[in-house]
Amino acid sequence: MADYRIGVLKGDDIGLEVVPEAVKVIKDAVKPFDTNIEWVDLPVGMPSYKENGETLPKKTFDSLFELDGWILGPIGHMAYPKNDEKAINPHPILRRQFDLVSNIRPAKSCDEIPSVHKNVDVVIVRENNEGFQPDRNMYKGNGEFMPNPDLAMSMRVISRRNSHMVASTAFELARQRNGLKKVTAIHKNTVFKLGCGLFIEACQEIAQEYPDITFETAVVDTFSMHLVMHPQDFDVVVTTNMFGDILSDLAAGLVGGLGMAPGLCVGPKYVMAQATHGSAPDIAGKQIANPYAMIMSAQMMLSWLGNKKKDADAIEAANNIERAMTTVLRSKNDITPDLGGKVNTSQMGDAVCEAL
Ligand code: ATP
Repeated sequence: MADYRIGVLKGDDIGLEVVPEAVKVIKDAVKPFDTNIEWVDLPVGMPSYKENGETLPKKTFDSLFELDGWILGPIGHMAYPKNDEKAINPHPILRRQFDLVSNIRPAKSCDEIPSVHKNVDVVIVRENNEGFQPDRNMYKGNGEFMPNPDLAMSMRVISRRNSHMVASTAFELARQRNGLKKVTAIHKNTVFKLGCGLFIEACQEIAQEYPDITFETAVVDTFSMHLVMHPQDFDVVVTTNMFGDILSDLAAGLVGGLGMAPGLCVGPKYVMAQATHGSAPDIAGKQIANPYAMIMSAQMMLSWLGNKKKDADAIEAANNIERAMTTVLRSKNDITPDLGGKVNTSQMGDAVCEAL
């Protein structure tokens, strides 16, 4: 029997190029350990729509319940046919249905890669399933509506449950990392006294369980300025959905762009590796997408599963991928054009396997 059953949902556009690199690297990384992974290919996105008439077929959805985790490639939902209920954006549904409340998004600089700052190692932990995001913050219906053509309303949802969960993820991470041992909770409770007020209160409650971790709060506007000027001052940052969406792209911009921004969606039972970037239709099919974000998202998933199952081999394999990736970035020979290099997507993946 396999140690792990992992789904592969390639997604759209550059997903078809970067997801196979992530699978290739994980396969190589686990080889020395006899870790047995069963890979389960599942259709999703536009390729699935063309083949099955659905962007998220029931078979794909149902199969995920039987897996330990899965890789979801970027989704290009803006190009999906409008007004066809079978052409839905899969990722908010997956995040919601599988209770993937915390979205962990690291931004780490590498001295050899052009970036706005050096010595950055910050993780944004974003609440994933409520906030202002109208496609997932309601039980039924949509959190955004127009009572008349000249009036639009957006509902924001903040619950103590999800705030507790995302705060716990942030504090656990701060404890595991060799960082500043600090969690910074971002809010705007000067204005959103109830919503952000509840979020910060929930973070303070969790902070009591982690006396070894420094806890601080910051208002989102001041924090944005501070993050741009002195990102080295932060370790783990926890925040609500929309602030986290914006701040994690900002953090990616500080360390080399969206190709350098991995992500992991986690919940009590399931885990989904999903890079921060979108499907980048402007560069799709050219083999120039940077596979770093997708490979490192899968690496985070392997590490997370290893920790969950107390599997030292899986953890070691994940650590090896991180070291191999650092070697590749430092050599500067095998990096994609967005990082100033000349190799293609698959050659960069090969270089990581070589370094392993
Ligand atoms: P979404 O809203 O779905 O997250 P987006 O509007 O943020 O998508 P992306 O698809 O992420 O847009 O692309 C933004 C820019 O970043 C584009 O110019 C794209 O080419 C570039 N980009 C995104 N991912 C990568 C990558 N892996 N490698 C190189 N460039 C990338």
